Amino acid sequence: MGNEYQGTKFQTELVEKEVISDFIEELQYWAALFARNNCAPAIPGGYGGNLSCRDADSFLITASGANLADLKPDQIVKVNKISLDDLTVWAEGYCLPSSETLLHAAIYKARPEIIAIFHGHYPVFEDNFAKLGIPITSEAADYGSIKLVNDVLEILGKEKFLLLRHHGFISLGKTCQDAGEQVINVCNQLNIKIF
Ligand SMILES: [Zn+2]
Repeated sequence: MGNEYQGTKFQTELVEKEVISDFIEELQYWAALFARNNCAPAIPGGYGGNLSCRDADSFLITASGANLADLKPDQIVKVNKISLDDLTVWAEGYCLPSSETLLHAAIYKARPEIIAIFHGHYPVFEDNFAKLGIPITSEAADYGSIKLVNDVLEILGKEKFLLLRHHGFISLGKTCQDAGEQVINVCNQLNIKIF
């Protein structure tokens, strides 16, 4: 579906600045757990997943092409503002933010109570979506596309766990732990062991 990784599909206005936040360690913990358990597997150009959490009026997100198995603080980017009209992201850090930054931003805008958004690729979830009762987007959309954003907003409602067709999952939490544990719960329901 023409979806191999080719970098971000928006422009970034990046201020080079160290990102300091209490949430860095939690993002590192969950990124490593996802990578280790195949929930965000290694793919050409990085890992199949991205994790974010709100920090005051901004949000932190893993960098485009970040090594989720061993996420360094300089691979976490702080996003201060986005424009869907101009496809521009204003950020601080030393790397470009994840290619799914627009999707994370759109969800945060639509759901003020959500603090953390974790996205990964795990085809086994989609194989079982009917059995698990998990909502799924109606059709495949390219990664990082506005169509993907709109398809997710269409089914978002008050859901906390969604699937992107032929792509992956999104877990929404009121804390990072909440978002991470929901993924573990789905794995448990499928008898997939997490370590
Ligand atoms: Zn993805």
